[in-house]
Amino acid sequence: MNLHLAPHYGMCFGVRDALRATHDAARREPVTLLGQLVHNPVVDAHLRTLGVRQGSLTAVGAASTARVVITAHGASEARRRAWQQAGYAITDTTCPLVHKAHQALAMLVREGYHPVVIGQAEHVEVQGLVGDFPQASVVLEPEDVLHLPAAARLGIISQTTQPLERVLALVSEIKRQHPGSEVRLIDTVCHPTKQRQTALEQLCQTCPVIVVIGGRNSNNTRQLTEKATRLGARAYQVETAAELQPEWFQGIRDVGITAGTSTLDETVTAVMDRIRQLTQD
Ligand code: SF4
Repeated sequence: MNLHLAPHYGMCFGVRDALRATHDAARREPVTLLGQLVHNPVVDAHLRTLGVRQGSLTAVGAASTARVVITAHGASEARRRAWQQAGYAITDTTCPLVHKAHQALAMLVREGYHPVVIGQAEHVEVQGLVGDFPQASVVLEPEDVLHLPAAARLGIISQTTQPLERVLALVSEIKRQHPGSEVRLIDTVCHPTKQRQTALEQLCQTCPVIVVIGGRNSNNTRQLTEKATRLGARAYQVETAAELQPEWFQGIRDVGITAGTSTLDETVTAVMDRIRQLTQD
């Protein structure tokens, strides 16, 4: 059996930098993470070994350490200020590409557009994006477009980890339902997400089975799994090597491997080693 690793997979620079900054801060003084640094239980366990405490971005003032860490997913300005005003020092690990999405949304609002965010309303990144703009609409499915207000100008950005094809399809639907409105999209899907999605398309051309490695609550990992399934592959999403089942690979010659942007390299290596073991027995 041949294992094919996607040309672009796994941890992105944004997550890597956030981990490093948290690591460095935790070595200097006790810190509380305001949410999951990334949606990956392996990373969470690693941070616990450093003594990093777990808190919540929304529970302003509840952290027991003097320093708190804002995660790579970012936060609204209002929330950031609330923590500062409560007397905490902040290590801000917001990914620069999430910052860009915040700036794009703020610019659209300044220019008089009704703000629209394509993404999951409950996701921490989206909550941060719309946190300073209570009038913003969040859409994820074509049915959500029905609830957009009849505004003369609609300014759209997206959660950084949404597949670009979903974003473009929703923008077309918005244009269709609002023919009289000026509709402007600023593409804020991040480059690493696009690269991993495109690399997966290549992988699906030769591999009937795809193993996607990453946290079950990681949006970009789930998007990879959904895309592989849409492209006709049998896709399995695992968080660790222990979840692999030998029957997934029976009679299969080519297996593709990819991983979400919050997956550690060592987890990818462990999964590949385990697949080799399972298929040699
Ligand atoms: S997935 Fe994209 S936006 Fe999120 S941390 Fe990585 S590079 Fe940044």
